[in-house]
Amino acid sequence: MRTVHGSCPLCEAMCGIEVDVDRGRVVAIRGDERDPFSRGHVCPKAFALKDLHEDPDRLRRPMRRVGDRWEPMEWDAAIAFAADRIAEVQAKHGRDAFGAYLGNPTAHNLGAIVFAPLVLKSLRTKNRFSATSVDQLPHMFASYFALGHQLLFPIPDLDRTDFFLAFGANPLASNGSIMTAGDVRGRLRAIRDRGGRVVYVDPRRTESAKSADEHVFIRPGTDAWVLLAMLHVIFAEGLVKLGKMAPHVERLDVLEAVTKAFPPERAERVSGVPAETIRRLSRELASAKHGLIYGRVGACVQEMGGLAAWAILALNVVTGHFDEPGGVMFPEPAVDVIRGGAGVGIGRGSFGRWKSRVRGLPEFGGELPVACLAEEILTPGDGRIRGLLTICGNPVLSTPNGAQLEKGLAELEFMVSVDPFVNETTRHAHLILPPVSPLQRDHYDMVFHAVAVRNTAKWSPAALPREPHERDDGQILSALLEAIETRRGRFSQRAVQASVLRRLGAKRVVDVGLRAGPYGRGVAGYTLGAKGLERSSGDLSLAKLEQAPHGLDLGPLRPTMPERLPKRDGRRYVDLAPAILVADLPRLDAREDELARTETLRLIGRRQLRSNNSWMHNAPQLMKGRDRCTLLMHPDDAKAREIEHGAIVRVRSRVGQVEVKVELTDDVMPGVVSLPHGFGHHRAGAKLRVAAEQPGVSLNDLTDDRALDALTGTAVLNGTPVEVVRV
Ligand code: SF4
Repeated sequence: MRTVHGSCPLCEAMCGIEVDVDRGRVVAIRGDERDPFSRGHVCPKAFALKDLHEDPDRLRRPMRRVGDRWEPMEWDAAIAFAADRIAEVQAKHGRDAFGAYLGNPTAHNLGAIVFAPLVLKSLRTKNRFSATSVDQLPHMFASYFALGHQLLFPIPDLDRTDFFLAFGANPLASNGSIMTAGDVRGRLRAIRDRGGRVVYVDPRRTESAKSADEHVFIRPGTDAWVLLAMLHVIFAEGLVKLGKMAPHVERLDVLEAVTKAFPPERAERVSGVPAETIRRLSRELASAKHGLIYGRVGACVQEMGGLAAWAILALNVVTGHFDEPGGVMFPEPAVDVIRGGAGVGIGRGSFGRWKSRVRGLPEFGGELPVACLAEEILTPGDGRIRGLLTICGNPVLSTPNGAQLEKGLAELEFMVSVDPFVNETTRHAHLILPPVSPLQRDHYDMVFHAVAVRNTAKWSPAALPREPHERDDGQILSALLEAIETRRGRFSQRAVQASVLRRLGAKRVVDVGLRAGPYGRGVAGYTLGAKGLERSSGDLSLAKLEQAPHGLDLGPLRPTMPERLPKRDGRRYVDLAPAILVADLPRLDAREDELARTETLRLIGRRQLRSNNSWMHNAPQLMKGRDRCTLLMHPDDAKAREIEHGAIVRVRSRVGQVEVKVELTDDVMPGVVSLPHGFGHHRAGAKLRVAAEQPGVSLNDLTDDRALDALTGTAVLNGTPVEVVRV
């Protein structure tokens, strides 16, 4: 028996794991006590890595759909088939007729994160979509316009803060999000142990809120009002403190002027948060020596998500908590995808270079809002999407109005999916290219070190061998990339790049990234520093990392500003009032009366620890126990509708209806109902036997593809107006 050390790649937390392997089989998985980042912590999903690997429903070979049957194919034939059909669709209908969707697990997968952006570039299509627009897009938008880079996220310095104020976040269920923190529960507990305070603002008293010092209810979709009111208080009470950022802050006067219109009393009427609470929290944030404000998915996937993300960023700046220990800071990952990411397709960002065909929605960072994917397939006319590539995604369950998207997928001329399962989305594919399980592939976290609360690095070798007929995501995507480029029939720089990268492989890309990064040994003696190419002073390389099986601790977050900010007229700057965000404020005004109405029931989602968005529901260990797909409802709302605890109710929105069991609880505020996301495994054709035993209903059969944050294109998944009646 041997023990393999690595990181769990399932979520952002990057927990260190030890995997005991005996004759090619996993016999135990446990947390790695010597991992400097996660310190032995794991959640129940880590143990389900074994379920995932051994799942009889997981595909081991490429599968081609012929009518209702699936037939195995050899890899070379499957890649050639995919490239031929992609070329055919694009030759017949134009480049944009072939779309692509990247699911969230792409970011947790070394091969996919290296090669998927290159495949997308290779398709030369404007119809690119991803899970970004049902998740963190508002933060990317705010960072792009205020800080000059879409991935320059201010990250909570969790280990040194004494005041943690969170909007729309539930780290005890998510394990931390855009705040990668192994053992997030322990780190949050430590804030209170050292005398600090943890406060959550959320329409639901979440698992996290229950373990905090304070929880404040807020009506769904109204975070921007409260956050702008906090800025109003900071200015009105003379609490602005810019500290070292003072020479770099631009348009502070504009921010002060526009937030004058949002006093706490106005925010109270819309949000339900008492004006006095808004004032008190503002003062507490401003006076905290080490404090911060943080917002996550609940504050993003709403009508005013862009404004909310901007206000959060601005609040940290004007209260002096920006790039300060104990405030929000900027990690320096060993492979720096922000400084060096352009080479693999992760650039500074962009906005409005093109628009979606049907609704005219602008691209951000080269992608269109996924809420318009279905209409781009279903609406006739030039430029209609006729083919689709999906990578590690299940948008039928994870994007709004999933039922409409299903109709669209059924009409495609060709769909190819890189995915290990026949799920609710990939059942529509003509070809599935399945990668190996996470335990069979090497891993280095390219993305989440860049949003981590501490600088660390860890290489995870594959714990299990693979059969000759098995391929990992990097091999699949690089082969597809080369095949697509070869079919262009002429010399292309990208074809050469594809061929070189394919031969290099993702592991060598990590080595180059480590050498060129801030702790690196250097490539030809140079690394990529804050000011460009610098003489290397570190000694990090993949070989060195491989000698540290528990990972390397590279220290706490360090101040890195203003060097990472963009320059104008020779001066680095933070734009506190980007014109595009200021111009969005009238939309907030226009929605005030509608959102202040309390008679409308509003639906919000919820994340669960034993789930991972729409996947991991086929793992028996995670699906044990009671039915978790229930509608949470406040007893007062239930009484008014003569609904008892445990009753089956019908929930209806503009786009659909579902029937689900109700759970009465005062953990949700009156006027709010909540469904977990990721369920809805009743669809015929999916081959997920365990998931089908507890299918639940899909939140996204109720969320509305027409409901968007009109500024950023983010789908409104929180605050959907619904009716609930007894069945
Ligand atoms: S929190 Fe759970 S799923 Fe996330 S990395 Fe850790 S063990 Fe894996």
